[in-house]
Amino acid sequence: MATRTVPTSWINGRARVGAGPGFTLMNPATDRPISAMLLGEAADVDDAVASARIGQRDWGAAPPAERSAVLRTLARLLESRSGDLVDDEVAHSGRSVRLAAEFDIPGSIDHVDFYAGVARDLDGKASAEYSPDHTSSIRREPVGVIGSIAPWNYPLQMAMWKVMPALAAGCAVVLKPSELTPLTTLLLAELATEAGLPDGVLNVVVGTGAEVGAALAGHTDIDMVTFTGSTDVGRLVMSQAARHGRRVQLELGGKAPFVVFDDADLDAAVNGAVAGSLINAGQDCTAATRAIVAESLYDDFVAGVGEVMSRVSVGDPTDPSTDMGSLSSHPHRKKVAAMVDRAVAAGARLVTGGTAPDGPGCFYAPTLLADVTEDSEIYRDEVFGPVLTVSSFVDDDDAIRRANDTRYGLAASAWTRDVFRAQRASREIAAGCVWINDHIPIVNEMPHGGYKASGFGKDMSTYALDEYLTVKHVMSDITGVARKDWQRIVFA
Ligand code: NAD
Repeated sequence: MATRTVPTSWINGRARVGAGPGFTLMNPATDRPISAMLLGEAADVDDAVASARIGQRDWGAAPPAERSAVLRTLARLLESRSGDLVDDEVAHSGRSVRLAAEFDIPGSIDHVDFYAGVARDLDGKASAEYSPDHTSSIRREPVGVIGSIAPWNYPLQMAMWKVMPALAAGCAVVLKPSELTPLTTLLLAELATEAGLPDGVLNVVVGTGAEVGAALAGHTDIDMVTFTGSTDVGRLVMSQAARHGRRVQLELGGKAPFVVFDDADLDAAVNGAVAGSLINAGQDCTAATRAIVAESLYDDFVAGVGEVMSRVSVGDPTDPSTDMGSLSSHPHRKKVAAMVDRAVAAGARLVTGGTAPDGPGCFYAPTLLADVTEDSEIYRDEVFGPVLTVSSFVDDDDAIRRANDTRYGLAASAWTRDVFRAQRASREIAAGCVWINDHIPIVNEMPHGGYKASGFGKDMSTYALDEYLTVKHVMSDITGVARKDWQRIVFA
């Protein structure tokens, strides 16, 4: 892809070139520049929030069917540009074209279609007469202006998860994507305007977290901050929003356990572990990271995963035969490699991988580390790379204890043919999603969100719509009498 110039903001229905620091947008698989950009800055956030405040008034008051129609048009426009979206997603993130074409882009478009339908169903609980002479009813109203901050790992999908339920609810959004992966989010905003979304309802400001992210999280004129990213930054964002007492939703890190009981289908577990740990080169908050395996299956599991992993092809992400693309950046690859090196130095057994190939690009080999200890860094901290650790358990109690022995609680899986074990695992593992005999699939109809240090609140599904609505109680006198009985409490 030739170098090109991209604007860094979409504010009030128009592209804007930033006036902030210069930044070179890189293709992490080739180490070639995609574009030179001038990043946005705090002043752009002010303008975006001001236009969102104005845009939200009419959008929030529009009949739900009108909002739904705009989202439906947007879905079709996204479909017509899906080739460009795939190309951009691969170029700025280094992900494989298969992942972008078969998961990211169709999943994102389906997300828009889902919320186009949901936008027409804003029902609250039924009304009733709880107090004599009064009828109570519920209004569900848009929260208002939303500040959204998204990570680089699934650039378009993460933007969608933040934006679509908010728009369906009648909110306006100011979205900050990662400066490493802004292309598809900017195209989304442009297409939203083309689809008829009123100016100011969706604004994008690309910039650094320290400047644009912090300005958004602490802005006095937003009503809610929604954030997807690391646990440490999420806590910072929460404290910034807390200064003004704003509503917060956080989708944070993960360290998903992958529990293989002794009655599991071993082939299924092996394939599931490879796919679940290597999806998006492991840069997935729900990726399988800690395989916890029954002692009787341990050696066969390690051998099987090592064998399948070593056959995974890593390379040019634009080639449809490539299984796994590059990591997102050189600093990130350095972090992943250093964690693996420290794990090996601490006694973990390197079964396969652990290498970064020479040459351009931020590639890292699929890596399996066996015999890791429970107190090791690689077992406890998020790696966010193509790295799976394996350790064994002695009985079911031990398996559940180990699965929960983490500060995170985003996702987990249990592999067993025993329905009662499966039920127990789904009940006792503290995570926002527990898969049984699978790991990774998601659907837009179901919620996504964490327990513990993985955050709170939900993306996706009608649960996410609730995040962007407030509930108002309306209580009406139905007698029309001038002097009400209850007023005797105040004046006889
Ligand atoms: P990150 O926390 O470094 O950055 C996330 C976003 O926050 C970026 O846009 C960044 O620019 C911005 N930011 C950074 N500092 C900020 C500040 N001081 N104030 C406001 N904003 C700031 O995360 P990342 O490296 O982009 O993404 C990887 C992380 O995201 C992993 O921890 C992963 O688990 C997590 N993640 C979670 C989910 C989920 O649904 N739970 C989904 C995807 C990724």
